[in-house]
Amino acid sequence: MSAVVVVGAGIVGSSVAYHLARRGVPVTLLERAPVPAAGVTGDSFGWVRGSGGRWPGGARHLREYVLADFRRLEAELPHVAVRRTGSLSWAGTPDEDSQPGPGQFRIGRSDISALEPNLRRPPDHAIHTPSDAGVDPTALTRALVAAAGAHGATVFYETVVTSLQVTNGRVRGVLTSTGRHAAATVVLTAGTNVPRLCAPLSASADLAIAASPATLARVAAPPGLVKTVVARPEFEVREVREGELVLVVPHVEGTAAAMAQAAQDALQRVMAAFQGSDSCRLLGHRTSRRPMPAHGPVIGYATRDRSVYVAVMHSAITLAPTVGRLVADELVTGRPASELRRCRPRIH
Ligand SMILES: Cc1cc2nc3c(=O)[nH]c(=O)nc-3n(C[C@H](O)[C@H](O)[C@H](O)COP(=O)(O)OP(=O)(O)OC[C@H]3O[C@@H](n4cnc5c(N)ncnc54)[C@H](O)[C@@H]3O)c2cc1C
Repeated sequence: MSAVVVVGAGIVGSSVAYHLARRGVPVTLLERAPVPAAGVTGDSFGWVRGSGGRWPGGARHLREYVLADFRRLEAELPHVAVRRTGSLSWAGTPDEDSQPGPGQFRIGRSDISALEPNLRRPPDHAIHTPSDAGVDPTALTRALVAAAGAHGATVFYETVVTSLQVTNGRVRGVLTSTGRHAAATVVLTAGTNVPRLCAPLSASADLAIAASPATLARVAAPPGLVKTVVARPEFEVREVREGELVLVVPHVEGTAAAMAQAAQDALQRVMAAFQGSDSCRLLGHRTSRRPMPAHGPVIGYATRDRSVYVAVMHSAITLAPTVGRLVADELVTGRPASELRRCRPRIH
């Protein structure tokens, strides 16, 4: 197959580049930052869900493959570690907590205490999803980029793609801050920047992609303080590696000081919930803008001549292993993957 340029080394671009490279496609991966996972991916909570949660639009057709694709990646890539901890969620009202979906169980106080022994006041009931897991999104992205390189992909950092290069109405590559890269197909995995890069195309996809702010805090904590993924309306917390928690902080618009206060407040709520947490200390917090397509994942050709392909979605940590595999399959074989049929961009 002819050369492919992938724009953006977040979790999506890294997965697409890896899956293409391992199938022998000449791939160039371009990233504006000096390292992979410098965008939203590096600030992600990293909860991998095979059940429960929201699966908008075409995401619901990808759900059944998620856990198997993570198992496959663990076998293929050294240093990829999936923490299969399961998750516990409870909202506090019997109605909200009483409806487990497939693969989920409604459990009582003693089972909750067995799973999370440091909870000061375990609730009467919670939803337990044993198949849920967590990953370190930065480590996973780095592993994918390294493996893409080992399969022959070329990676350029500090290379800003300024525009698509169009000649005689067809995209022939990209123009960047460091020069031109020719390609038969350009795959845009630049998250919230994809609509801007596609905008000059005359017949291109209708891309309604919001940039939705979310904040992640990192916390030094006693190892094993939190065992599972704990999801409450007021916080989500999990151990990302021994002695470090990640915590989703409810977003507040306003000053940096207001956001710092929100991160401290969220940590206080976690410390109030878990005994043995007195030594917990905020390491930092960061707000980033999640690519959030209006109707679920947008994955497919964005031009009629098939010179530009886009892959943008929310919950991409969960979806990227499956999406990378399917995108590579489409590009290599030329056959549309039926699993992606509800994810197609509308071309006008
Ligand atoms: C607080 C928080 C919690 C989250 N929790 C979860 C979760 O638990 N589970 C889950 O599945 N998802 C979660 N998400 C969402 C998930 O992180 C995103 O869906 C995912 O990281 C998006 O990956 P991406 O590769 O599309 O985008 P990005 O990671 O933003 O990657 C795009 C890359 O393109 C590069 N780029 C952009 N423009 C250019 C250009 N012109 N030239 C060159 N490079 C360019 C950027 O530098 C970036 O590296 C969370 C997000 C946040 C912020």
